[in-house]
Amino acid sequence: MQSQTKAPLSADSKPEGMLAKARENLRMACDQLNIHPDVFEELKWPRETLAATLLIRMDDGSRRAFKAWRCRYNDRRGPTKGGVRFHPNVSLDEIETLAFWMTFKCAVANLPFGGGKGGVCVDTKQLSPVELERLSRAYIEAFAPFIGPDHDILAPDMYTNGIVIAWMSDEYSSISGQASPSALTGKPLAFGGTVGRIDATARGGYYALRHLETSLDVNPDKSTVAIQGFGNVGYHCAKLLHADGYTIVAITDSSGGIYDPAGFDPLAVMQHKHETGSVKGAKGHGKTKQISNTVLLELDCDVLVPAALERQITLDNCDRIKARVILELANGPVSPEADKRLTEAGHVIVPDILANSGGVTVSHLEWVQNRSGFYWDESRVRDHLKTTMETETRAIWTLHNEMSVSMREAAYIHGLRRIAESVEARGTPAYFDGT
Ligand code: NAD
Repeated sequence: MQSQTKAPLSADSKPEGMLAKARENLRMACDQLNIHPDVFEELKWPRETLAATLLIRMDDGSRRAFKAWRCRYNDRRGPTKGGVRFHPNVSLDEIETLAFWMTFKCAVANLPFGGGKGGVCVDTKQLSPVELERLSRAYIEAFAPFIGPDHDILAPDMYTNGIVIAWMSDEYSSISGQASPSALTGKPLAFGGTVGRIDATARGGYYALRHLETSLDVNPDKSTVAIQGFGNVGYHCAKLLHADGYTIVAITDSSGGIYDPAGFDPLAVMQHKHETGSVKGAKGHGKTKQISNTVLLELDCDVLVPAALERQITLDNCDRIKARVILELANGPVSPEADKRLTEAGHVIVPDILANSGGVTVSHLEWVQNRSGFYWDESRVRDHLKTTMETETRAIWTLHNEMSVSMREAAYIHGLRRIAESVEARGTPAYFDGT
């Protein structure tokens, strides 16, 4: 096993794409707050992005190279924090965009972190478990000088689960010569993980929705919910809302899905998925129909929960979206153009940087517990998550009303205020001019 770290990339070599689009929210928030151009200048590019080629020995004795990145977008509020994604479509632009979103998500949740992200261009389904372990360790070997509990903290993301994080944590501790559990979060409990992390992302979105029920005119007695994606986030969200009385009328995963106006029991659907590998064929309480993902997104329901992939709602389908409330548990499920059109048409989008911030909020608690060596019980973790989600949701909803901006714009304004304060705390142009 061998890995090679390359020199940081220059800003000019980066392609324009998702990050350029994401940056429009930064521009909007800077304009709304009338913030000094220095802040925009500081935040328009990542602070540093490292690229590496991970060379691993395959089971058949050959060597294969995998492209990998780690981006630290901005660290004014603290060490950077963000997941590592293993996916064949991972690109530099995607990693930097996700790191940008993490910067704002951590600020929205008022965490002492900046934003980071990493990834490897790989289809993990093509690797044996031992090859996956070699790749996970090679990632840490490549980026070890760049990460650490006070510098850059890693976490799971798509196709990097608890065992991958355990291998990474183990490798990082070996390289640093001491147990360093707080360099990675999302660890298994036996590896220094925290209780309450598994459903934290879904639970955070659930607390946000329930807190806004009166304002959004939704409630368990009358409202229907459609959920795209039935993995960790989609399943736990369905379970929590169903337990409170919401009717879960549709669920899809990558193979398609199911619709039943009388609703589903998410536990039974998950059991079916375990047995068959898909939600298709699971039965609801009434006449269940098989549907596609396209149909799910366009269903007549009260709350739509995208909990799968980026860019599911675009200009191609946004005019057919009927759900009045969209709770973005996935990252970036609505394109910026569709977001504008939907907002103008009166839909309320609870944006990803608020709605799915429960995951990183509980990851912060894992980091705190690792550093103090004192571990919390589940009710303490949940209470903290609930208070954080309700406080930040209320602040963003108030800004949304007071400034007549969308909830997404309000969330960016809310996050930017905090980031700008930490930039300005190092000296403003007025201070240096002496004016
Ligand atoms: P996961 O891998 O556990 O589940 C993903 C689900 O999406 C699977 O059920 C898969 O079948 C389904 N899916 C894939 N393609 C689909 C398609 N075209 N249509 C419908 N379903 C499809 O992932 P997860 O951890 O639940 O994450 C889901 C989303 O939430 C991702 O966007 C992720 O970035 C975001 N997110 C997750 C966390 C977390 O803590 N897990 C935190 C923040 C954001």
